[in-house]
Amino acid sequence: MTKGTFMLDPQGISKAVEFTETELKKFKGIKNIPSTLISVEEAMVMLMENGGGYGLDVYVYKNISGIYVKITAEGKEFDFKNDIDLGVDLLKDEYDSAAQDTIRAILLRAYGDSIKYQNKGGRSTVVFTVSKSEKALLYLTVAGLVLGILFGFILKLMPSDISAGINTFALTPIKTLFMNALKMLVAPVVFFSLVSCVSQFNNLRELGRTGGKVMGYYMFTTVIAIAVGFAVSFAVRPSAAGIAELVTSSGGQVSEIAETPSFIDTVVNIIPENIVEPFITGDMMQIIFIAIICGIAVGSIGSYSKALADFFGACNDLFLGITTMVVRFIPIATFCAIASSTMAMGGDSLLSMLGMTATVILGLLIMLVVYSVILSSRGINPLLFFKRISAGMITAFSTGSSNAAMPVNMKICGEELGIAPKIYTFSIPLGATVNMDGTSVCGVIMSMFFARAFGIEFTAAQLIAFAVTVLVLSISTPGIPGATIIVTSVMFASIGLPIECVALVFGVDSVIDMFRSAINATGDMAITAIVAKSEKLMDMAVFNRKKK
Ligand code: ASP
Repeated sequence: MTKGTFMLDPQGISKAVEFTETELKKFKGIKNIPSTLISVEEAMVMLMENGGGYGLDVYVYKNISGIYVKITAEGKEFDFKNDIDLGVDLLKDEYDSAAQDTIRAILLRAYGDSIKYQNKGGRSTVVFTVSKSEKALLYLTVAGLVLGILFGFILKLMPSDISAGINTFALTPIKTLFMNALKMLVAPVVFFSLVSCVSQFNNLRELGRTGGKVMGYYMFTTVIAIAVGFAVSFAVRPSAAGIAELVTSSGGQVSEIAETPSFIDTVVNIIPENIVEPFITGDMMQIIFIAIICGIAVGSIGSYSKALADFFGACNDLFLGITTMVVRFIPIATFCAIASSTMAMGGDSLLSMLGMTATVILGLLIMLVVYSVILSSRGINPLLFFKRISAGMITAFSTGSSNAAMPVNMKICGEELGIAPKIYTFSIPLGATVNMDGTSVCGVIMSMFFARAFGIEFTAAQLIAFAVTVLVLSISTPGIPGATIIVTSVMFASIGLPIECVALVFGVDSVIDMFRSAINATGDMAITAIVAKSEKLMDMAVFNRKKK
């Protein structure tokens, strides 16, 4: 950790910014230094304006979870989130203040995790997360996967009472702990994320036609992604041999699919008789219904609207924080789940899981073709487009997170694609929250695979209902590593599959997550470009320029 102390005046601030820049440049590979410095400088000015006239301390440090800048000074508490300038000023002439507030809310929601403010004992402290080492989690998960397979084979060779003991007293309890934590999180994550999203949609009206267009395209590509998922599942039909036996051997049971409720019953059942019960019984359709209603109502109740929107936003951040904490244990859970299933797994189930992984990756790659078709129909050269956005795709791929790739993606939209900030400052954070094409492809293919393993047949109406579930769940999937694991448990349950199937997904998901996140991020940038071009807010000379 390096520390610098400066005067809390304009001169001191410019020295402090220089110091921060020099120290950050010592770490290799940080891409968002300029944008970090703008926010750091802005925060220092706020500390000065509210300061007690003493010095400003700046710390630049790296630890296992990432690289951080911490600035602290004496002074009174202030409303950091409302006062900080997130580049929204750039748009002053283009939007009225309500629209600016909306953009600010979207940006803060997206950045919420990377800037933290507190005032304790008359001292204000702001911590900026410059880069998070999500890669560490990915490497550990892949290590968990490989070691888990090896350990599974070792267990197979051991005397059966010893291996059964290790499985019963160590592997299975740890796996169950993790599964319980996931189950516990599903309802609140989906609920709060949806309420916050829907209340944001209300505000999107403030952004006018462009906001609606972006949202419309996001939903359109998600529907196509779901269709691609079905098409690939039905065309490839990867073998699911050995999977049902494996899941059943770890206690999983297919729920009786009662005779299909009529359309009228399905619709009528969406509204619960009691507002608390769905959270106890875990009825996701009812929870989703309550969330959408709350989201709409939050925007229309006058003076309490803002307080409530803040409250739901805070709860959303809270559960996102808890999810991030739980997700950190994925490497251990993967190790235990995969060791336990390799021990029980015959060669056929191992091959089946590999076949499913390959099918999902094929579906994800087909999305690139879909984007290419849409882009070229709008006069944007897809190959050049993919070349221009490659850094964003690689960031999402290597971190397994479209949120982590967001700063890079915004920069690419401005500098490489020539898009006006007016569009990408809201469309990219919004897309990282609601537009999950990769997640949708993946959810459909995985669900259809396990359904085939258990011989579940669907009627057309059931498939449509399932598609709607995937659409809504994709909106409520956070753009963090492994988030699909949480929502697949709801997708699986919605078609009667046992939750134990999720344990098999852990094993292969770290690889799929990289492709999925890259597609999620690509979808956001493709739609941003399409809408920007149609609004004449994309400078084609910048996009088509020859690079030196
Ligand atoms: N990791 C994905 C993303 O950040 C989310 C998911 O797991 O589906 O886009």
